[in-house]
Amino acid sequence: MVAKLMTIQSPNIKKKVAIIGGGINGLCSAWLCAQQGFEVHLYEKETLMSQTSRCSSKLLHGGLRYLEYLQFSLVRESLQERKFWLEAAPELTNDIELVIPLYKGGIHKRWEYKIGLVLYDFLAGKNNLGKHRYLTKDEVVSTFPSIETNGLTGAYAYHDGQMDDYELGLWVSRQLTDLGGTISENTKITKVTNEGLVTLESGEKFQYDCVVNACGPWAQELVARSNIDCEVKLKLVRGTHIIIPQISDKALYLENKESKRLFFVLPYKGNTLVGTTEEVHDLSNKIEPTEKEINYLIGALNKFFDNQITQTDIIESFAGARPLIFESTKLMNEVSREYKIKRNQKLINVFGGKWTTSRKLGESVLEHVLKVIK
Ligand SMILES: Cc1cc2nc3c(=O)[nH]c(=O)nc-3n(C[C@H](O)[C@H](O)[C@H](O)COP(=O)(O)OP(=O)(O)OC[C@H]3O[C@@H](n4cnc5c(N)ncnc54)[C@H](O)[C@@H]3O)c2cc1C
Repeated sequence: MVAKLMTIQSPNIKKKVAIIGGGINGLCSAWLCAQQGFEVHLYEKETLMSQTSRCSSKLLHGGLRYLEYLQFSLVRESLQERKFWLEAAPELTNDIELVIPLYKGGIHKRWEYKIGLVLYDFLAGKNNLGKHRYLTKDEVVSTFPSIETNGLTGAYAYHDGQMDDYELGLWVSRQLTDLGGTISENTKITKVTNEGLVTLESGEKFQYDCVVNACGPWAQELVARSNIDCEVKLKLVRGTHIIIPQISDKALYLENKESKRLFFVLPYKGNTLVGTTEEVHDLSNKIEPTEKEINYLIGALNKFFDNQITQTDIIESFAGARPLIFESTKLMNEVSREYKIKRNQKLINVFGGKWTTSRKLGESVLEHVLKVIK
């Protein structure tokens, strides 16, 4: 679709596009627009990649658990994009095999995982990183010698991608500036109009041919502050991670029976990354890990290992707010990670999305920009 549209735009006409938000979705939107030959300027109220996009689980993934909610197209698209990132920036990404130990009385039955993983491999198609496999109990114990063996029956292992989210975002920013795109950090936009006028906190105003609101968790806030109606509403869900000294150089995806949720235990830069939580977040509060969330993660992890960790083992903790499209009938973990893009004259508002699919989101934004700038 984008390739077809590219013929419409003459490279000599330098139309001006403003992108608001220097997270991965804003950066990818800016990158795609710069590839098209537009004069792109990106505004970020803090510094690039300082918010949600650097607080992820660092996975370039299809999202195995989204299959439970029949989100096949999201999973397929994510698996394609996973391959894109792994090939585009091999120095900042890697293939990772995740092991899901199976316990008696677990949240999901063995056959449920089997169906999910067969489907996951199928949806990945030629982009698959390696087929899933079954591990016997002995194989699990030899891989994770200190793992809880009570009730352990075996495990499944499957492949996904892992990234340095912060550095990969900066890599995108370099692609953007190499194409002539410009960036203003520490520059908050206080108002936008459907006619393409952007107001900075300093009071300065700039006119653009097209404006993209890619403010992530703050996207709805910017629209509301600008007195613009928008039918899409966001629900923000805070997720916390902790980093502790390395437990294993292998990755685990574990079930927490109490909360009926899964969490990751991932090798990351010589340490172990554990996460995540899911708590509704209100933007009037700072996005930071709470004591309750940290204790939840410690408690969940300690159920699986002999070596009990405490708060003093924590090297770092961080939290991000996931911008999800509000759906009144759904629970937090059921809400789709798909994005919505709404265009109103010269203003394009971006809502939701995953890190993994940010380049695809950028392509969709570009399609809208091309409709604005005919
Ligand atoms: C805990 C957690 C774990 C996750 N793990 C994964 C994962 O492993 N894999 C995956 O694919 N996805 C994951 N996600 C989802 C993914 O991280 C997000 O969907 C993605 O980072 C959102 O990017 P964004 O650019 O929309 O938002 P952000 O990264 O938050 O960027 C928005 C930017 O806009 C700026 N901004 C806001 N208002 C203004 C303004 N008025 N003027 C100027 N700038 C402004 C902000 O400062 C911010 O930098 C996770 C999310 C969370 C919360």
